[in-house]
Amino acid sequence: MGRDFHLQVKISTTDFNNAAIPWEGKGNTLSESVQVCQWLEQAGVDAIHVSCGSMFPHPKNPAGDLPMKEAGMTYDIMSASGRHTRRNLFFFRTWPFNAAFRWWWVHNRGRVVEGINLSDSRAVKQAVGIPVICTGGFQTASVIRQAVSGGDCDGVSIARSLVANNDLVKLFAQGHDCAPRPCTYCNKCMLHTLKNPLGCYEESRFESREAMLKQIMSVFEPPPFR
Ligand code: SF4
Repeated sequence: MGRDFHLQVKISTTDFNNAAIPWEGKGNTLSESVQVCQWLEQAGVDAIHVSCGSMFPHPKNPAGDLPMKEAGMTYDIMSASGRHTRRNLFFFRTWPFNAAFRWWWVHNRGRVVEGINLSDSRAVKQAVGIPVICTGGFQTASVIRQAVSGGDCDGVSIARSLVANNDLVKLFAQGHDCAPRPCTYCNKCMLHTLKNPLGCYEESRFESREAMLKQIMSVFEPPPFR
């Protein structure tokens, strides 16, 4: 690509590999990942993007809920292939397995969602000289400002919060600390993506189901083909 091409590496600085499956090993640790980030800097990488988790989804990535109805829908679509999809579909659809797994998932996520990776990001930032970007449920201006000015990172990346409020940056510019209807971290959007358009599927954020569907379907306006 040449040296003038911006090359950024996204890394799960802590794997938490046993967070979902307790009998597995912990995976990569923060100190190992800090060493990797230093090697990446020496190799010419332009920026590091800090995340976490050894798989996707993971209790800490994207940090939030695991909605079982939507999880069952996703595994229903995938059930024709894969080694564990039918087993997972059974667990996600069957009480009390689904309730127990959901409890375990949220329990291992922990209390913090917004800024969940900031301590890892800070450790990387202290070890390298290149910019460090942090992901993890950001949607509050004061939290982001503190993360950057406090030396935890040079910037943050945002996905779900912009799916929920695609005008979030404009709201910040107008002086709002957060959106009037923030992302609830329900993770329904993530589990709908195999079957339905990318959008916010948290009905409680809308006046009505119709309003939610209207916003989701707005991705087709204007239509891509005429
Ligand atoms: S469905 Fe909406 S509220 Fe739920 S995580 Fe996605 S964007 Fe946030």
